[in-house]
Amino acid sequence: MNNTELWQAALGEIELSISKANFSTWFKNTTILSRENGKVVIGVPNGFAKEWLENKYNTYIFRALRNFQEDIKEISCTIYSSDQSPKSSEAKSVDSVAQGLGAAKNIDNPYAYTPQASTVTQTSYAQKAYENNINHRYTFENFIIGENNELARAACYAVSQNLGKVYNPLFIYGGVGLGKTHLLQSIGNEVLEKDPAKRIKYITSERFANELIDSIRNQTVNDFKATYSAIDLLIIDDVQFLAGKEKTQIEFFHIFNALYQINKQIVISSDRPPKAIATLEDRLRSRFEGGMIADIGKPDLETRMAILKTKATEKNFYLDEEALRFIAENVKNNIRELEGALNRIIAACEFNNKLPTLKFVQQALSEIISAGKKKGIQAQHVIEAVSQYFNIPTKELIEKGRKKEISYARQIAMYIMRTELNASYPGIGSQFGGRDHTTAMHAYEKVSKDIENNEKVKEDVAILREKIYAV
Ligand code: ADP
Ligand code: MG
Repeated sequence: MNNTELWQAALGEIELSISKANFSTWFKNTTILSRENGKVVIGVPNGFAKEWLENKYNTYIFRALRNFQEDIKEISCTIYSSDQSPKSSEAKSVDSVAQGLGAAKNIDNPYAYTPQASTVTQTSYAQKAYENNINHRYTFENFIIGENNELARAACYAVSQNLGKVYNPLFIYGGVGLGKTHLLQSIGNEVLEKDPAKRIKYITSERFANELIDSIRNQTVNDFKATYSAIDLLIIDDVQFLAGKEKTQIEFFHIFNALYQINKQIVISSDRPPKAIATLEDRLRSRFEGGMIADIGKPDLETRMAILKTKATEKNFYLDEEALRFIAENVKNNIRELEGALNRIIAACEFNNKLPTLKFVQQALSEIISAGKKKGIQAQHVIEAVSQYFNIPTKELIEKGRKKEISYARQIAMYIMRTELNASYPGIGSQFGGRDHTTAMHAYEKVSKDIENNEKVKEDVAILREKIYAV
């Protein structure tokens, strides 16, 4: 990926996770000025943008860039003037993503509009006036089917052909980077292609919650609800973030019911099945469970190879069977990582002007693989992941909190520190407000036993492991 492609791809991700107003205010006329040894310098038009991007949006940018280029370590911003730059056209195309409307002049944007710069595309983009957030990069055509995702893919496809009629709601769950967002977005693209007049909305549950809060603050809740009630297809991604947000759940429940009763389609994704989402209001849970639930598992070797092959071909990059197999055998966790590995190899080949022989590929990947598992993961990461997953403030997890859920979460965190970081028992105790080493030992033993005979414990640990390594 060159800098322009990388930035366009990252902007696409960022655009989905922050509000449209913020996106266009802060990411307009930005570009990657340089990228060297994992350091990325972003060119911004003024000091305000610099401050916001470096402070408020730092994590978003980082996360988005690292989705595509794993080795990025540092980001900084520099004020630059787009008309001094020889690449000013680049900045302009970013601007047009920011405006987000399907005006014809946007067609030069390599990221959002290339696949089908047809009249249909323009019409459907005109819908973005109310932000459908559908990204053309994700379609059923470029989604590779494997045993792991067959069911979820079939369910999504069926829904796209019969909105509101077959599976409602459709609930897709699975670990990080396994293709949930891709499938959800594919439904949107498919529906728009058939009928550009359909009203679609894709939103992450996090952003849904934020918009709701904004509307409460601005006293526009009724407008907020009205907008949602007029939708034909509502796609809510990563619904696990609603855990514990009671007010949002209540509003969501009302919107859900309003749509459901008039046979409008709702599609939901989560990193875990409905019953595993702690503090999800019961009526919402039973609504979710009342529809179709499909999971996406980890891809097997064959599927990983097929995906790699397709992605390489899409990028006009040739890898022989041996090299493909080597990558697929060594990068197993999820598809996002697989794509990251491929991008890294392409970059290394271009940089060294070498062909991707097996030997070269082995070298290029050695860092990811050997450092791979234990790379830089610290107790703090485990604590953060556990606290986020169980929706318990870090402070309570570490210090007080004697409630059953809190001590359960704490024991899981201790167990993971022991198994994944090889931490000592006294070391673990000290991470948790100076508790005695016997507490850590007890936690380890208890969880080890429970994992054997309790599905929920097994699943919690598996999901958390995945989250920790997916950083
Ligand atoms: P999730 O939402 O589950 O975390 P994503 O949908 O963001 O995962 O997928 C991560 C990346 O992997 C995306 O770039 C997506 O296009 C790609 N991907 C996932 N599954 C497949 C698949 N079966 N075929 C092709 N690409 C895939
Ligand atoms: Mg996703």
